[in-house]
Amino acid sequence: MNQGIHLSGLAQPELVEFIEALGLPAYRGRQLFAALQQRRLRSFEEISDLPKDLRVRLNEVATASSLTVESRYISVDGTRRYLMKTHDNLPVETVFIPEERRDTICFSSQSGCPLQCTFCLTAQLGLLRSLTAGEIVEQIIIALNDAYGVGEKPPRGTNLVGMGAGEPFLNFDALMKALRIMANPEGLHIVPNRVTVSTAGIVPRILELGKIPDRPHLAISLAAPTDELRDKLMPINKKWPLEELLSACKEFEKTLKAGERFTFEYVMLDGVNDSEEQARQLANLLNRHGLKAKVNLIPHNAADPLPYQPSTAGKVERFRSILESKGVHTFVRRPRGRDIFAACGQLAARAGATISHSATK
Ligand code: SAH
Repeated sequence: MNQGIHLSGLAQPELVEFIEALGLPAYRGRQLFAALQQRRLRSFEEISDLPKDLRVRLNEVATASSLTVESRYISVDGTRRYLMKTHDNLPVETVFIPEERRDTICFSSQSGCPLQCTFCLTAQLGLLRSLTAGEIVEQIIIALNDAYGVGEKPPRGTNLVGMGAGEPFLNFDALMKALRIMANPEGLHIVPNRVTVSTAGIVPRILELGKIPDRPHLAISLAAPTDELRDKLMPINKKWPLEELLSACKEFEKTLKAGERFTFEYVMLDGVNDSEEQARQLANLLNRHGLKAKVNLIPHNAADPLPYQPSTAGKVERFRSILESKGVHTFVRRPRGRDIFAACGQLAARAGATISHSATK
């Protein structure tokens, strides 16, 4: 396989520079950018408006696309999960979630994940490596082409969530670069305002994001209202405990602009973090820090080797109403694509399309 420079990871000015370095006029660079990012073509052969000799030349020094789709799973609810491979054979997973008024694409920022959250299946892969900007962008191109046809304009708006495998804030530069590339109106034209990035709580990056004007919406994964429990569920808490994390969140909140969304995610684990007492602790914690951010409750998506069950609907509702009664706006997230292992915390490069039940249960 061609291992030359990967062009879907270049911003438009970089691609123009690359083309000029080959002794070609700048407009060829813009043409190439539009072909890759707006027409979503994935090989030089397909870009038939470029001269043949240029296409041959490009093939020698560069690559148009680097991910390959290994398998695709389609849920009864229309959600699609793609299991892709990088050029060095590592798994990448992407989820396409159709909704009435928009589509959401959930992309991965790393192959595997270094954080060892005990409730998340991706943790079991460990970190394979961080993805490049081009590999992040390509996930979106592949999902849109599959859903609507190559280069076809999506009929609804496209939202992106950085909530697939990996910790986006441990791959900050590539992530931000990918977002810049995708925002270009002559390319995919998905602006940061349509993107939400979720972090397990990498404090320095939360503070850094606060200083960036053109940024995505931010979500913080909490999972527990006390350090004692969060240390166990999300070991990253030992490095940046709740006080530090929530102080950084408060700093970030001060920089919010009108219309910007800032949310907390709270995965609901039966009998572990879903008691009435814990709801009160969570509300008090957020209120003590003066945080106005909303809370999304995510009932746990079961994943066979993990020792957790989702909280019952009744418990989730009770938890929600306690938070609300203390002034914390709370929503319950509806799981999508559970049957194909596409829901939160289920991405672990699984080949199966249906949940396998072990005989002992
Ligand atoms: N590493 C980032 C991005 C992953 S986002 C982060 O932690 O925020 C994935 C979201 O799904 C997180 O909010 C996480 O807490 C949640 N999650 C993980 N495993 C889950 C599971 N099995 N069921 C439901 N939600 C889960």
